[in-house]
Amino acid sequence: MKFDVMTLFPDMVRGVLGESIIGRAQSGGLIEVVCHNIRDFSKDNHRKTDDTPYGGGVGMVMTCQPIYDCYESIINNIPEHNKRRVIYMSPKGAIFSHEKACELSQYDNLIFLCGHYEGVDQRILDEIVDEEISIGDYVVTGGEIPACIVIDAVSRLLDGVLASSECYEGESVASGILEYPQYTKPREFRGRKVPEVLLSGDHAKIDRWRLEEAVKITKERRPEMLLMHPEIEESLKPKKKRKGR
Ligand code: SAM
Repeated sequence: MKFDVMTLFPDMVRGVLGESIIGRAQSGGLIEVVCHNIRDFSKDNHRKTDDTPYGGGVGMVMTCQPIYDCYESIINNIPEHNKRRVIYMSPKGAIFSHEKACELSQYDNLIFLCGHYEGVDQRILDEIVDEEISIGDYVVTGGEIPACIVIDAVSRLLDGVLASSECYEGESVASGILEYPQYTKPREFRGRKVPEVLLSGDHAKIDRWRLEEAVKITKERRPEMLLMHPEIEESLKPKKKRKGR
């Protein structure tokens, strides 16, 4: 999959996505992330990319021309038959979720527009954007970190990026509930011991303990998730014996 990111701050995106698992996915050729500096497309003598808002008010608004030319340069290099989507990272968008990450992982090309300052002229959004996505009900200074979050979440669902799909299938949210607590060596840390069951080698018992813990933590923190998946808690209840004849 190829990600194109339109931004005024390409190094922010390169820095975040160049490290760790997503960095390795790029060097291994599993994904491609290309950052395009919107400023390089400005036709203004001073390479301006923003201006004051019509109607007055504080701050600056990113102008249409450099973004449109940047977009055209990207689109012209995408084969006609590729499945593509243009996304504007915005606090006004629908809130990002695991389901949305799964949906986006089916595309060949995702093109991100990162806003800054007071945002972007509405006309460029109407012209080129398919969808607006928010990372949550708060405002950050620019769309770069939000775009990195979406690219990271989508990339780890792609074949080969993680060691196996098991790595994310049992995780919080993807499994329908929150994950059980994890422990590693040593067996004791500042008097806190690893739960005995995890040392037992009895995998049926370990699986049950993990499910019980996952249900407990989900009940405490995200009870609405359990309401969406009643079968998970149901599976912990003892099975009723069928009457013999
Ligand atoms: N004035 C805008 C508003 O009230 O909706 C906020 C602009 S914000 C300071 C600058 C840019 O950061 C936005 O254009 C958007 O690209 C990005 N941004 C801010 N919060 C975001 C969020 N929760 N999710 C996704 N992108 C966000």
